[in-house]
Amino acid sequence: FWHACLEHFKQELNGQQFNTWIKPLKLESSPDEDNTLLLTAPNRFVLQWIKDNFIMHIEEMAQNHFPEPVHIKLAIYDAQESGAVANTAVPTKKNEAAKEAVTSRLRAVTSKKSNPSQLNPNFTFDAFVTGKANQLARAGAIQVAERPGIAYNPLFIYGGVGLGKTHLMHAIGNYVLAHDPEAKIRYVHAEKYVSDVVSAYQHKSFDKFKLYYHSLDLLLVDDVQFFSGKNRTQEEFFYAFNALIEAHKQVILTSDCYPKEISGLEERLVSRFGWGLTVAIEPPELEMRVAILLKKAAIDNIDLDENTAFFIAKHIRSNVRELEGALKRVLAYSRFTGQPLSLELAKEALKDLLAVQNRQISIENIQKTVADYYKIKVADMYSKKRARVVARPRQIAMTVAKELTQLSLPDIGEAFGGRDHTTVLHAYRKIMELRTSDPSINRDYNTLIHILRG
Ligand code: ADP
Ligand code: MG
Repeated sequence: FWHACLEHFKQELNGQQFNTWIKPLKLESSPDEDNTLLLTAPNRFVLQWIKDNFIMHIEEMAQNHFPEPVHIKLAIYDAQESGAVANTAVPTKKNEAAKEAVTSRLRAVTSKKSNPSQLNPNFTFDAFVTGKANQLARAGAIQVAERPGIAYNPLFIYGGVGLGKTHLMHAIGNYVLAHDPEAKIRYVHAEKYVSDVVSAYQHKSFDKFKLYYHSLDLLLVDDVQFFSGKNRTQEEFFYAFNALIEAHKQVILTSDCYPKEISGLEERLVSRFGWGLTVAIEPPELEMRVAILLKKAAIDNIDLDENTAFFIAKHIRSNVRELEGALKRVLAYSRFTGQPLSLELAKEALKDLLAVQNRQISIENIQKTVADYYKIKVADMYSKKRARVVARPRQIAMTVAKELTQLSLPDIGEAFGGRDHTTVLHAYRKIMELRTSDPSINRDYNTLIHILRG
């Protein structure tokens, strides 16, 4: 059967496509007792591609070939799914190589364990691109790094996900460590701190816990919004914080929002978090995103031209982590297909991602844009409020969402606070009707469509 498939795809695809996607696959020749055929791919990348583009085709051929309906199961042949691997024709050498890879990864993890500060050496000031979005935060961070315990204490960095808070925090730690190798530094994610408190509780070892945390020169606690509602943790942290600040030891904190906005945080911590310098990191603008991509490429010795960087940066706007993810995807694609990096290649590699993202962005965009336009809260887009001042804009937003996205009525209802699809349909009909009878609604609607289409 597989032989027939291969012949078929050889006809259908060009040589490169065939070699890239089809040739590396392995398919069992006959179905097992559950009428399942196992199809294995060398990596996640090929697997996803097959899932998206070829699996239907292969299944169809299988239905025509076998007397009974068969199901095709996809797996990666190097994965630790040893059950799946066992009955395929994977050479044992490959398994050994995979095992070795796992062992060496484990080794890397273990050796990280002996790094008492837990700092990531790659997160440095040098590797951190500056722009309008983060220049204040970076300036504050540099001052703190140069004069720990003296400049601002604590330093509180806040901003959305993937904007560089963790990076900046590590950069300070790395800087301090480089200038004072004896400094006792500890980076800890707030969740880890919480679980440390829990285990101190279980083992009645708070003395040890205190001894450790209170004796640091520099304490970095990442994502303190995770302290929310954890009272015992907050109490313990309150002591640690006071002890360190009194001893002029530096404390650095990050959070996804401003201290006052962290719900479930004790007032005494909220106020203390604001004692030093509080700085925000904003999402980077286009040029900065390009600069970040070029920087990442330079660090990894990759030849990325500006056009390609612009293309990626223009389309990935959410945050730096996503931006890095997109670059990695393009690189993987380039390595995989053996083609050099280019604009064309980037377009191809990101095609699916962008399709998904466009849909995602637009509904949030629509809600925000409409809310801003009518000067109401975005939250009113999901709220149950029925007052005309919020209900009408909400209906307009739903109508716009139906016009500008591929989303189904139930999907739109879901995005608007879990409303029923009939509510969306009703909103749509209502607005369409009003547009013919009420010129101001029609004007608002057209303006919004215009803004959103850019
Ligand atoms: P956050 O902690 O705010 O969620 P991170 O610090 O983990 O974000 O950053 C996510 C990724 O983006 C990291 O790999 C980081 O190196 C990178 N990054 C973020 N901001 C910058 C920047 N200004 N310059 C270079 N890389 C950045
Ligand atoms: Mg972080």
